[in-house]
Amino acid sequence: MINEKCKKDYIVSATAADFHIRAFACTTLNICEESRRLHNTSPVMSAALGRMLSAAAMMSIMMKGDGDKLTIQIKSDGPSGGLTVCADSHGNVKGYTPVPDVILPAKANGHLNVSGAIGNGDLIVVKDLGLKEPYVGRTTLQTGEIAEDMTYYFAASEQTPSSVGLGVLMNMDNTVRCSGGFIIQLMPDAGDDVIAVIEENLKSIKSVTEMLDEGLTPEDMIGEVLKGLDINFNETYDCAYKCDCSDERVEKALISLGEKEIVELIKENKDAEIHCDFCEKDYIFGPDRLKDILKKSRALNIKE
Ligand SMILES: [Zn+2]
Repeated sequence: MINEKCKKDYIVSATAADFHIRAFACTTLNICEESRRLHNTSPVMSAALGRMLSAAAMMSIMMKGDGDKLTIQIKSDGPSGGLTVCADSHGNVKGYTPVPDVILPAKANGHLNVSGAIGNGDLIVVKDLGLKEPYVGRTTLQTGEIAEDMTYYFAASEQTPSSVGLGVLMNMDNTVRCSGGFIIQLMPDAGDDVIAVIEENLKSIKSVTEMLDEGLTPEDMIGEVLKGLDINFNETYDCAYKCDCSDERVEKALISLGEKEIVELIKENKDAEIHCDFCEKDYIFGPDRLKDILKKSRALNIKE
Protein backbone atom coordinates (compact mmCIF):
# COMPACT_ATOMS: atom_id res chain seq x y z
CA MET A 1 0.00 0.00 0.00
CA ILE A 2 1.22 3.47 -0.92
CA ASN A 3 1.59 5.66 2.16
CA GLU A 4 -1.14 8.33 2.42
CA LYS A 5 1.63 10.92 2.83
CA CYS A 6 3.00 9.98 -0.60
CA LYS A 7 -0.21 10.94 -2.36
CA LYS A 8 0.97 14.55 -2.19
CA ASP A 9 4.25 15.32 -3.97
CA TYR A 10 7.11 16.58 -1.82
CA ILE A 11 10.86 16.54 -1.36
CA VAL A 12 12.65 16.18 1.96
CA SER A 13 16.28 17.06 2.64
CA ALA A 14 18.50 15.77 5.41
CA THR A 15 22.06 15.72 6.64
CA ALA A 16 23.84 12.89 8.43
CA ALA A 17 27.16 11.91 9.97
CA ASP A 18 28.01 15.39 11.19
CA PHE A 19 27.12 17.10 7.87
CA HIS A 20 29.40 14.76 5.91
CA ILE A 21 26.37 13.43 4.11
CA ARG A 22 23.50 15.28 2.54
CA ALA A 23 20.41 13.51 1.34
CA PHE A 24 17.28 14.26 -0.65
CA ALA A 25 14.26 12.07 -1.27
CA CYS A 26 10.96 12.67 -2.99
CA THR A 27 7.59 11.28 -3.88
CA THR A 28 6.38 12.47 -7.30
CA LEU A 29 3.28 10.40 -8.01
CA ASN A 30 1.26 13.43 -9.18
CA ILE A 31 4.10 14.95 -11.22
CA CYS A 32 4.66 11.65 -12.99
CA GLU A 33 0.95 11.06 -13.60
CA GLU A 34 0.48 14.60 -14.92
CA SER A 35 3.40 14.11 -17.32
CA ARG A 36 1.87 10.81 -18.46
CA ARG A 37 -1.57 12.38 -18.94
CA LEU A 38 -0.29 15.47 -20.80
CA HIS A 39 1.97 13.58 -23.21
CA ASN A 40 -0.05 10.36 -23.32
CA THR A 41 3.18 8.41 -22.82
CA SER A 42 3.57 4.66 -23.15
CA PRO A 43 4.55 2.89 -19.88
CA VAL A 44 8.26 2.81 -20.70
CA MET A 45 8.28 6.52 -21.55
CA SER A 46 6.16 7.37 -18.48
CA ALA A 47 8.90 5.69 -16.43
CA ALA A 48 11.77 7.37 -18.30
CA LEU A 49 10.29 10.86 -17.97
CA GLY A 50 9.09 10.23 -14.41
CA ARG A 51 12.55 9.17 -13.23
CA MET A 52 14.11 12.26 -14.79
CA LEU A 53 11.41 14.55 -13.35
CA SER A 54 12.12 13.16 -9.87
CA ALA A 55 15.84 13.85 -10.32
CA ALA A 56 15.08 17.39 -11.52
CA ALA A 57 12.72 18.02 -8.58
CA MET A 58 15.43 17.06 -6.08
CA MET A 59 18.10 19.07 -7.93
CA SER A 60 15.69 22.02 -8.02
CA ILE A 61 15.93 22.53 -4.28
CA MET A 62 19.74 22.26 -4.38
CA MET A 63 19.72 25.59 -6.23
CA LYS A 64 19.80 28.63 -3.95
CA GLY A 65 18.75 31.63 -6.05
CA ASP A 66 15.13 32.59 -6.49
CA GLY A 67 15.40 32.79 -10.28
CA ASP A 68 17.77 29.83 -10.78
CA LYS A 69 16.84 27.37 -13.49
CA LEU A 70 17.91 23.88 -14.41
CA THR A 71 17.63 21.87 -17.62
CA ILE A 72 18.55 18.19 -17.88
CA GLN A 73 18.67 16.78 -21.36
CA ILE A 74 19.39 13.33 -22.70
CA LYS A 75 20.55 13.30 -26.31
CA SER A 76 20.58 9.71 -27.39
CA ASP A 77 20.11 7.32 -30.30
CA GLY A 78 17.28 5.16 -28.85
CA PRO A 79 13.72 5.13 -30.24
CA SER A 80 12.59 7.83 -27.76
CA GLY A 81 14.92 10.42 -29.27
CA GLY A 82 15.93 11.47 -25.75
CA LEU A 83 14.35 13.54 -22.97
CA THR A 84 14.28 17.12 -21.77
CA VAL A 85 13.24 18.22 -18.29
CA CYS A 86 13.39 21.66 -16.66
CA ALA A 87 13.07 22.86 -13.10
CA ASP A 88 13.05 26.18 -11.27
CA SER A 89 14.37 26.54 -7.73
CA HIS A 90 10.92 26.08 -6.15
CA GLY A 91 10.19 22.46 -6.98
CA ASN A 92 8.33 23.16 -10.23
CA VAL A 93 9.25 20.76 -13.00
CA LYS A 94 8.21 20.04 -16.59
CA GLY A 95 9.47 17.75 -19.31
CA TYR A 96 8.88 16.08 -22.65
CA THR A 97 10.20 13.45 -25.00
CA PRO A 98 10.10 13.68 -28.80
CA VAL A 99 8.60 10.17 -29.15
CA PRO A 100 6.18 9.59 -26.25
CA ASP A 101 4.68 6.32 -27.51
CA VAL A 102 7.70 4.01 -27.64
CA ILE A 103 6.61 0.42 -27.02
CA LEU A 104 9.26 -2.13 -26.04
CA PRO A 105 9.00 -5.59 -24.49
CA ALA A 106 9.78 -5.67 -20.76
CA LYS A 107 13.23 -6.81 -19.68
CA ALA A 108 13.85 -10.37 -18.50
CA ASN A 109 13.30 -9.28 -14.86
CA GLY A 110 9.89 -7.82 -15.77
CA HIS A 111 11.08 -4.20 -15.52
CA LEU A 112 10.25 -1.56 -18.11
CA ASN A 113 13.06 -1.31 -20.64
CA VAL A 114 13.99 2.35 -20.08
CA SER A 115 17.59 1.86 -21.29
CA GLY A 116 16.26 0.31 -24.49
CA ALA A 117 14.09 3.38 -25.13
CA ILE A 118 16.94 5.78 -24.34
CA GLY A 119 19.90 4.06 -26.07
CA ASN A 120 23.41 5.51 -26.05
CA GLY A 121 24.26 9.16 -25.82
CA ASP A 122 24.97 12.05 -23.50
CA LEU A 123 23.44 13.60 -20.40
CA ILE A 124 23.62 17.37 -20.44
CA VAL A 125 22.90 19.52 -17.38
CA VAL A 126 22.54 23.27 -17.80
CA LYS A 127 22.19 25.41 -14.68
CA ASP A 128 21.32 29.05 -15.08
CA LEU A 129 22.30 30.49 -11.71
CA GLY A 130 22.03 34.12 -12.76
CA LEU A 131 25.74 34.35 -13.55
CA LYS A 132 27.17 35.63 -16.83
CA GLU A 133 27.49 32.13 -18.24
CA PRO A 134 25.35 29.12 -17.36
CA TYR A 135 27.02 26.05 -15.87
CA VAL A 136 27.05 23.22 -18.43
CA GLY A 137 27.97 19.64 -17.54
CA ARG A 138 28.07 16.94 -20.19
CA THR A 139 28.67 13.27 -19.41
CA THR A 140 28.30 10.03 -21.35
CA LEU A 141 25.26 7.89 -20.52
CA GLN A 142 26.34 4.87 -18.47
CA THR A 143 23.29 2.61 -18.74
CA GLY A 144 20.41 4.77 -20.01
CA GLU A 145 18.44 3.80 -16.88
CA ILE A 146 18.74 7.44 -15.66
CA ALA A 147 19.67 6.82 -11.98
CA GLU A 148 23.11 5.40 -12.86
CA ASP A 149 23.56 8.18 -15.41
CA MET A 150 22.79 10.84 -12.78
CA THR A 151 25.15 9.13 -10.29
CA TYR A 152 27.93 9.28 -12.89
CA TYR A 153 27.10 12.91 -13.72
CA PHE A 154 27.41 14.01 -10.07
CA ALA A 155 30.78 12.25 -9.69
CA ALA A 156 32.30 13.22 -13.03
CA SER A 157 30.89 16.71 -13.58
CA GLU A 158 30.18 18.09 -10.10
CA GLN A 159 32.95 16.09 -8.34
CA THR A 160 30.42 14.99 -5.73
CA PRO A 161 30.32 11.25 -5.08
CA SER A 162 26.62 10.40 -4.96
CA SER A 163 24.17 7.58 -5.02
CA VAL A 164 20.95 8.15 -6.97
CA GLY A 165 17.89 5.91 -6.84
CA LEU A 166 14.87 6.61 -9.03
CA GLY A 167 11.76 4.61 -9.74
CA VAL A 168 8.31 4.68 -11.35
CA LEU A 169 5.78 1.88 -10.95
CA MET A 170 2.75 1.66 -13.26
CA ASN A 171 -0.75 0.34 -12.55
CA MET A 172 -2.31 -2.28 -14.78
CA ASP A 173 -4.32 0.48 -16.51
CA ASN A 174 -1.04 2.30 -17.35
CA THR A 175 -1.57 5.13 -14.88
CA VAL A 176 1.21 5.81 -12.37
CA ARG A 177 1.10 3.82 -9.13
CA CYS A 178 4.09 5.42 -7.43
CA SER A 179 7.11 7.49 -8.34
CA GLY A 180 10.03 8.98 -6.47
CA GLY A 181 13.67 8.65 -5.59
CA PHE A 182 16.63 9.68 -3.50
CA ILE A 183 20.01 11.36 -3.92
CA ILE A 184 22.68 10.74 -1.26
CA GLN A 185 25.84 12.86 -1.52
CA LEU A 186 29.20 12.67 0.22
CA MET A 187 30.56 16.01 1.31
CA PRO A 188 34.35 16.56 1.41
CA ASP A 189 36.10 14.70 4.24
CA ALA A 190 33.41 12.07 4.70
CA GLY A 191 35.17 9.25 6.55
CA ASP A 192 35.75 5.76 5.16
CA ASP A 193 33.65 4.30 8.00
CA VAL A 194 30.66 6.41 6.94
CA ILE A 195 31.14 5.43 3.29
CA ALA A 196 31.34 1.74 4.27
CA VAL A 197 28.02 1.97 6.16
CA ILE A 198 26.25 3.52 3.17
CA GLU A 199 27.76 1.02 0.72
CA GLU A 200 26.51 -1.86 2.87
CA ASN A 201 23.03 -0.29 3.11
CA LEU A 202 22.86 0.25 -0.65
CA LYS A 203 23.60 -3.43 -1.21
CA SER A 204 20.73 -4.55 0.98
CA ILE A 205 17.94 -1.99 0.40
CA LYS A 206 15.00 -2.64 -1.86
CA SER A 207 14.38 -0.65 -5.03
CA VAL A 208 12.68 2.75 -4.84
CA THR A 209 9.43 1.38 -6.30
CA GLU A 210 9.40 -1.55 -3.87
CA MET A 211 9.94 0.79 -0.94
CA LEU A 212 7.22 3.24 -2.06
CA ASP A 213 4.82 0.41 -2.90
CA GLU A 214 5.33 -1.04 0.57
CA GLY A 215 4.26 2.23 2.16
CA LEU A 216 7.62 3.89 2.84
CA THR A 217 7.80 7.69 2.70
CA PRO A 218 10.73 9.76 1.38
CA GLU A 219 11.89 10.13 5.02
CA ASP A 220 11.79 6.33 5.39
CA MET A 221 13.83 5.87 2.20
CA ILE A 222 16.55 8.16 3.57
CA GLY A 223 16.33 6.16 6.80
CA GLU A 224 16.97 2.95 4.85
CA VAL A 225 19.97 4.25 2.88
CA LEU A 226 21.52 5.96 5.91
CA LYS A 227 20.64 3.26 8.45
CA GLY A 228 23.10 3.31 11.37
CA LEU A 229 24.00 7.01 10.91
CA ASP A 230 22.55 9.96 12.85
CA ILE A 231 20.12 11.66 10.48
CA ASN A 232 18.81 15.21 10.80
CA PHE A 233 15.82 15.97 8.65
CA ASN A 234 15.59 19.51 7.38
CA GLU A 235 12.76 21.12 5.48
CA THR A 236 10.21 19.53 3.23
CA TYR A 237 9.37 21.24 -0.04
CA ASP A 238 6.29 20.95 -2.23
CA CYS A 239 6.92 20.03 -5.84
CA ALA A 240 4.63 20.01 -8.86
CA TYR A 241 4.43 19.65 -12.62
CA LYS A 242 4.05 23.20 -13.83
CA CYS A 243 4.56 24.78 -17.23
CA ASP A 244 5.34 28.48 -17.24
CA CYS A 245 4.43 29.16 -20.86
CA SER A 246 2.01 32.03 -21.47
CA ASP A 247 0.58 34.24 -24.16
CA GLU A 248 3.17 36.91 -23.34
CA ARG A 249 6.10 34.50 -23.49
CA VAL A 250 4.99 33.14 -26.85
CA GLU A 251 4.62 36.71 -28.11
CA LYS A 252 8.17 37.44 -26.99
CA ALA A 253 9.38 34.30 -28.78
CA LEU A 254 7.66 35.48 -31.97
CA ILE A 255 9.26 38.91 -31.67
CA SER A 256 12.65 37.26 -31.25
CA LEU A 257 12.14 35.47 -34.57
CA GLY A 258 12.55 38.85 -36.22
CA GLU A 259 10.40 41.27 -38.19
CA LYS A 260 10.94 39.50 -41.48
CA GLU A 261 9.35 36.30 -40.23
CA ILE A 262 6.33 38.13 -38.82
CA VAL A 263 5.86 40.15 -42.05
CA GLU A 264 6.02 36.87 -43.97
CA LEU A 265 3.25 35.36 -41.83
CA ILE A 266 1.06 38.44 -42.25
CA LYS A 267 1.58 38.40 -46.04
CA GLU A 268 0.46 34.78 -46.18
CA ASN A 269 -2.62 35.81 -44.17
CA LYS A 270 -2.14 32.71 -42.04
CA ASP A 271 -2.45 32.03 -38.34
CA ALA A 272 0.80 31.51 -36.50
CA GLU A 273 0.56 28.27 -34.55
CA ILE A 274 3.01 27.76 -31.73
CA HIS A 275 3.00 24.55 -29.74
CA CYS A 276 4.39 24.14 -26.22
CA ASP A 277 6.16 20.78 -25.96
CA PHE A 278 6.03 20.83 -22.16
CA CYS A 279 2.26 21.18 -21.64
CA GLU A 280 1.01 20.41 -25.19
CA LYS A 281 -0.82 23.74 -25.37
CA ASP A 282 -1.32 25.41 -28.79
CA TYR A 283 -1.11 29.15 -29.14
CA ILE A 284 -2.80 30.50 -32.25
CA PHE A 285 -2.18 34.10 -33.30
CA GLY A 286 -4.39 35.43 -36.12
CA PRO A 287 -3.33 38.08 -38.67
CA ASP A 288 -4.64 40.99 -36.55
CA ARG A 289 -2.69 39.85 -33.53
CA LEU A 290 0.39 39.38 -35.71
CA LYS A 291 0.07 42.96 -37.01
CA ASP A 292 -0.10 44.10 -33.42
CA ILE A 293 3.01 42.06 -32.57
CA LEU A 294 4.81 43.54 -35.60
CA LYS A 295 4.07 47.05 -34.28
CA LYS A 296 5.45 46.12 -30.88
CA SER A 297 8.52 44.57 -32.48
CA ARG A 298 9.20 47.75 -34.53
CA ALA A 299 8.73 49.93 -31.47
CA LEU A 300 11.25 47.80 -29.60
CA ASN A 301 13.76 48.01 -32.44
CA ILE A 302 13.48 51.81 -32.64
CA LYS A 303 14.12 52.03 -28.89
CA GLU A 304 17.25 49.94 -29.27
ZN1 LIG B 1 3.54 25.08 -21.77
